[in-house]
Amino acid sequence: MDGMWVVDGHCDSLIDFCSGKRSLREEQEGQWELERARQGKIGLQFLAAYIEAEYKPERALSRGLELIQAAHRFLSANPETVFLVREPKDLERLAPEGKLGVLLSVEGGEILGENLYLLDIIHHLGVRALGLTWNQRNAIGDGAGETKTQSRLTRFGESVVRRMNELGMVVDVSHLNEAGFWHVLEISSQSVVASHSCAAALCPHPRNLSDAQLQALAQCGGVVGVNFYPSFLNSSGQAKREDVIRHIVHIADVAGVDAVGLGSDFDGISEVPEGLESVEKMALLIGDLQQAGFIKDEIRKICYGNFMRLLANVIK
Ligand SMILES: [Zn+2]
Repeated sequence: MDGMWVVDGHCDSLIDFCSGKRSLREEQEGQWELERARQGKIGLQFLAAYIEAEYKPERALSRGLELIQAAHRFLSANPETVFLVREPKDLERLAPEGKLGVLLSVEGGEILGENLYLLDIIHHLGVRALGLTWNQRNAIGDGAGETKTQSRLTRFGESVVRRMNELGMVVDVSHLNEAGFWHVLEISSQSVVASHSCAAALCPHPRNLSDAQLQALAQCGGVVGVNFYPSFLNSSGQAKREDVIRHIVHIADVAGVDAVGLGSDFDGISEVPEGLESVEKMALLIGDLQQAGFIKDEIRKICYGNFMRLLANVIK
C-alpha cells in the first residue's frame, strides 16, 4: 500500500546498545535494528530507556541517565539515518525524509525518585514520554503487578502527571495498575497513551486493558499500541501475527479506530508471535489490516496517524 508507514510505540533495544552488545545497525541477533526497521516501514520508533529491576530504587536515576546517554550516542553514531523527535515540527520530517525518527521515552518513574525537578531535566535531555510505573509500586503509584492494592496515584504521582502535561511529555499508562489508570485520566489535561498493551477481553492479563479502560482512553484522545507479547495476546501464551490483528479489530470495535496503534515491545519480549518475529515483519501487518476489512484511511490511522495526532497535540 503506497505511502504507508508505521509508528512503533515501544521497543527495549537500547539496553543492548548501552552495554555494547549490539550497534543496532546491522546485526540480526535481536528483534530490532535499523536496517530491519527500515524494511518494516518504521518511520517513528519510541525508544525506551527501560530501567531494570536490579537498579531500583537506589540506582534507578544513574541507570536511567546511562540509558538516555546511550540513546544520544546511538543518534550521533547514525546521523544519516536517525534523528531525535523533540517538538511538533520534527514530526513533519518523518517518513518523507526517509530518516527514522526516535521518540525517547523512559520506562519507569523510578528515575525521578521523589524529585519533580528531575522531570524537567530529562525533558531537557530529549525525553518526551514516561511510563509512570513498571510492574511494581514506586513513588508515583502502583504497577500492574500489584494486583492486591487497588491504590490510586500518590500526591507525588499527581504532581508528575501535571508537570508532564505542562512540559509536553506523553504520559504512558502501560504497566500502571487499574486504579492508577483511572486516576491519571481524571487529572491529565492531555491525551495519554498505553504504549504497549493489549485487550483484556481477549486475554485477561493484569497488563491488558478492559473494554471500559479502552473506551475511556479513546474518549480522552488516547492511543493504545498493541503489544506483540504472546502472553498478552492469548491465554495459551502462544500467538500468531493474526492475533495482533484480532486485538486491533477488537479495540477498534469497542473504542474506535482512532484509539489503536502498534507497540511491538521488541527486544523486551522473550517470545514472539509466529509470522511477527522481528521488526521487518511489521510491514506485513499493513496487508493483514487490509484483509481484515479496514479501509486505507483506517489503516493509516492504525499504522501511524493516531500516534502522530496525539504527539502533535502533546509534545513541545
Ligand atoms: Zn514494558
